[in-house]
Amino acid sequence: MTSVLVSGASIAGPTTAWWLARAGFDVTVVERADALRDEGQNIDVRGAAREVLRRMGLEDAALAHGTGEMGTVFLGAGGRELARFPASTDDTSGPTAELEILRGRLAQLLFEHTGDAVAHRFGDQVTALDQDPDGVDVTFLSGTQERYDLVVLADGVNSRSRELVLPDAPRRYLGMIIAYLTIPRTEEDTDWWRWYVAGRGRGVNLRPDDVGTTRAMLNLMTDVRGIDALDRTAQATLLRRAFAGAGWQTDRVLDALDDAPMYLEDLNQVHLDRWSVGRVVLTGDAAWCATPVSGIGTTLALSGAYTLAACLAAHDDHRAAFADYDARMRPFVEKGQSLPPGTPGLANPQTDLGRTLLGTALKLAASPVATKLGGIAGRFGTPPADQYELPSWR
Ligand SMILES: Cc1cc2nc3c(=O)[nH]c(=O)nc-3n(C[C@H](O)[C@H](O)[C@H](O)COP(=O)(O)OP(=O)(O)OC[C@H]3O[C@@H](n4cnc5c(N)ncnc54)[C@H](O)[C@@H]3O)c2cc1C
Repeated sequence: MTSVLVSGASIAGPTTAWWLARAGFDVTVVERADALRDEGQNIDVRGAAREVLRRMGLEDAALAHGTGEMGTVFLGAGGRELARFPASTDDTSGPTAELEILRGRLAQLLFEHTGDAVAHRFGDQVTALDQDPDGVDVTFLSGTQERYDLVVLADGVNSRSRELVLPDAPRRYLGMIIAYLTIPRTEEDTDWWRWYVAGRGRGVNLRPDDVGTTRAMLNLMTDVRGIDALDRTAQATLLRRAFAGAGWQTDRVLDALDDAPMYLEDLNQVHLDRWSVGRVVLTGDAAWCATPVSGIGTTLALSGAYTLAACLAAHDDHRAAFADYDARMRPFVEKGQSLPPGTPGLANPQTDLGRTLLGTALKLAASPVATKLGGIAGRFGTPPADQYELPSWR
């Protein structure tokens, strides 16, 4: 039996593990956190990734746990409505996908689905990978040492284990940070994603969830690096300063900055010209993070994890499997990472003129004419999730 260590238990990790176990591999998953992480907000599962969940028998469960978001509405000065995009009724189009689910909920579904077929180890992580032609000697932070035939790194955009095999992986900063907060739901809240275009490179977002709270996002265009590494107090101070006087419901979000569950990230894409080194292979955000503004990160993670497992199941030799995986996924990843021109700045304009132009463009994109004509306006908020054909399973 081929033994495989998978690092990371979010989306890509458990999906790879489930499919590999199904193909008869002996799989262990290691996760740095002490328990399955339940943080994160509304994420989209589209196109090929819907098909992966379908093949796993999880699509109905995922739909049943949807956030119930009815669509996306953009608001301008004074909270005035600019444009409205109802949720998609197919599995690919529009800013609100038909399958919108909390990240933590999807991770839970995937984890539970792996059941006893996979061994799990929480609160540990890889600190050294020493490989020879026959296997990989893995050292863990806990001091444990084990040997595996293959290692899959599915531990996210900031993967430290990636540094062990591909040091200084190039990351492309998109000039924006996002703070995600979970705040109490009020009677005024709706089941729409409300995106307030606040000007000066700021956006304030309020989104529904299926657990009775409201998910808030503060978008901020900034050239300042390292905000994600500051402590919570410093981050709160910075956000209060940056969003002071922004209007609409901003103060309600700022009031929650001290106590609400919060996660802040700076948006970096990962671009690698190879996803494997010997017997170690990368998948998901660790390999190709496209960032949340792409709307396709989770879709790429599910599709990539399935493809990797399918290639390993189909080839006797891991080198042939990794080459096949790379050849299949790379064009899809490149499309997913290629953002519309001006993203994310155009959607978070600095000036009044930028705000006006955005309002006009959004109205056009939301008009029935644009939808009918297709093209860029008609496909607004629609990442290329349908432009990939999954390999068949063996
Ligand atoms: C807590 C959290 C919240 C998120 N919230 C959002 C959100 O609100 N909106 C959005 O669009 N995307 C969010 N994402 C990112 C989104 O999940 C990914 O873009 C996408 O689903 C691809 O998933 P992934 O499994 O490749 O990576 P990730 O989802 O980033 O998962 C990586 C996993 O690896 C673990 N890990 C990290 N380092 C190590 C290590 N050295 N050893 C072992 N395990 C390690 C992490 O704890 C995590 O469980 C979030 C991710 C996380 C981890």
